[in-house]
Order: sequence, then structure tokens, then C-alpha cells
Amino acid sequence: MTGSPDPTAPLVDRFGRVATDLRVSLTDRCNLRCTYCMPPEGLPWLPKQEILTDPEISRLIRLAVTRLGITEIRFTGGEPLLRPGLVGIIAEAATLTPRPKMSVTTNGIGLDRLAAPLREAGLDRINVSLDTLDPERFVQLAHRRKLPETLAGLAAAAAAGLTPVKTNSVLVRGINDDEAPALVRYALDHGYQPRFIEQMPLDAGHTWSRERMVTAAEILAMLEKEFVLLPDPTERGGAPAETWLVGDYPGTPRVGIIGSVTRPFCGDCDRTRLTADGQVRNCLFAREESDLRAALRSGASDDDLAQRWRVAMWGKRAGHGIDEPHFLQPARPMSAIGG
Ligand code: SAM
Ligand code: SF4
Repeated sequence: MTGSPDPTAPLVDRFGRVATDLRVSLTDRCNLRCTYCMPPEGLPWLPKQEILTDPEISRLIRLAVTRLGITEIRFTGGEPLLRPGLVGIIAEAATLTPRPKMSVTTNGIGLDRLAAPLREAGLDRINVSLDTLDPERFVQLAHRRKLPETLAGLAAAAAAGLTPVKTNSVLVRGINDDEAPALVRYALDHGYQPRFIEQMPLDAGHTWSRERMVTAAEILAMLEKEFVLLPDPTERGGAPAETWLVGDYPGTPRVGIIGSVTRPFCGDCDRTRLTADGQVRNCLFAREESDLRAALRSGASDDDLAQRWRVAMWGKRAGHGIDEPHFLQPARPMSAIGG
């Protein structure tokens, strides 16, 4: 391989990985304050003029799909449902050829109203974050009393056909670390696909510690005590979740565990990220960003923007390096990068 990316190529890096999955953060704002993501007092939000406008986002999505080989788009944040233009951005992307598969990751607040319009606009699937079923624990974890809204959002997503509806749960030591089986049971009883995510060093306060993290192995052990878990014969590909079939449930549904820290999947990573302020990141843990907003606002052509995106991806590192002695947490927290 040569020292720079081919100007007609998709998003390839020096290790031969091809990014086909784009994560678009639509806002850094949020209506919750999950302890592993944001401080209780919130963060200084990005000034409005720094946030990409709806037409700017749609242009970059069009470029990514029609020139750079992106086939899947996930809208995230911050809380993506807080972005007024969300439905329109999805409707616009749904007109592209080839049509990308589209999903949203949300805390579910407001989804009871938005699920049907999102589906109509062309959204295919949804992931709803659900860390606990206990209203008091929800307050401890998210500093807001909003559990009923999240549960209503989940139900509305399923009713609107945004399937498979997946739940994302982060277990926090001392708060909800005993809740994995109950979360699985709730999800399966409602027809959702439960998934757990290891807590990553992406909190605003930089207080993450490996010792306190609830590991994928621990989660698996907790689940194996309650359920018959069978190996999943389907190909994992670039998917971050390792999945098991729940043998003692009708229809043998799946449960997933994303061991981002202890079972990294960097070698198969197929992701590229666009932040709400128009920066391309080649990894959640990247320390550099590539400023597409400045280029876009100073009149860059589609060719120029596409090539800047390729160059940004070319520099992707082999792995996140959390275990390396010189690992440094990215300056921006998860809410500002886009989870
Ligand atoms: N606000 C939306 C939500 O909570 O689903 C979307 C953005 S949020 C950053 C996306 C996902 O990242 C959520 O499932 C959340 O639980 C997860 N997340 C946030 N901070 C995390 C961390 N430090 N480690 C692991 N997952 C994290
Ligand atoms: Fe908001 Fe999602 Fe971060 Fe929770 S995880 S504070 S819901 S952005």
C-alpha cells in the first residue's frame, strides 16, 4: 500500500479496513446526565453557529453515500431526538441511491411522539438506551426522573415497526450491576433485543477506572446463571456485539455484549464518525479530528471534501490503545463525540 489514499477509493485505512458505517452526531446536547457520559451540571454546549446546519449534514451524508461507499448511517448525539431537523435529515438521506440503512441511538425520551414520523421518513431501526428498570436507580444514573418516558419510547418504536428494537445497557458498579438478568428478561418479554456495553473511558470527568468497570466476562457469567446461552452461528462481521442465543426463551432470541475494552473489535472496525460540529473522527478514541466544516464553509468542492474524508480515515490507528501505558482519553466526552 502507498502512503496516501487513492482519490477514487472508498474510506480505506493503512491496515486495509474499509469504513462503510457512518455515525453522525446531530447535537452535543442532552436531556439526561448519565454518570458515565456527562457531569450532572451538563457541559458547555457547542455554540449554534459551530453546529452543522441540516443542509450541510445532508450534503456530507450524500457525499459519504454516493462517493465514499457508506452503506449504513446511525444518527446519535448527545440526544439526537433533540435535533429539530432529524426527521427531515432522515427523509433526505432515504432518497439517496444506493439507499443507506439508517438507525438512531436514543435515550427514548420523546420517541413516543417521534417513532411513527421517523419510520415514515425512512428510518429502519432503533437502539434505545435502558440501564435500569428501577425509577430511583434511573435518577441515580441519569440525574433525571425519566424512566417512564424511556419505556414509552421503546414501546412506540416497536409499534412503529422500527425493528429489531435493541436496548443498550451500561452497568455501573454499585448502582445497577445486579440488573443484567432483569434487563434481559424485560427486553425479551417485550420483543426487544438486549445488549450490554462495557463502560469506556469517555466520561466528561475522566473518572473511569478499569477496576470499577463491569466487564463483558462478568456480564456473561451473570446471564449464564439465569439463562441457557447458546453460541450464535451467525457471522459477526464488523458488528461490535458478541451475541448468544437464549435457548430457554421461545424463538431463541439473541442477547449481545459489547466488550469494547476487554474484547476489542478494532481489527474489524468499519466505522467513521462525523461530529455535530463537522469534524471527522476515524475512531471513538482518536485524538485528532479533521475539520470538514471549515472546508465546507469556505467553498470546498465535493471532490475536495471527499478527499479530506479519505485522508482522515487513512490515518486511523490499529486499535484504541486503552491498555497501552501512554493511553490518553480523548479530550471530548462521549456526548460530544457521538456514541
Ligand atoms: N443519548 C443517546 C443515548 O443515550 O442512547 C445517544 C448518545 S449516547 C452517547 C450513545 C450510547 O453510548 C448510549 O447507549 C450510552 O449508554 C453509551 N455510552 C455513553 N457513554 C458511555 C461510556 N462511557 N461507555 C460506554 N458506553 C457509553
Ligand atoms: Fe445523554 Fe446518551 Fe450521554 Fe446519557 S449517554 S448523558 S442519554 S448522550
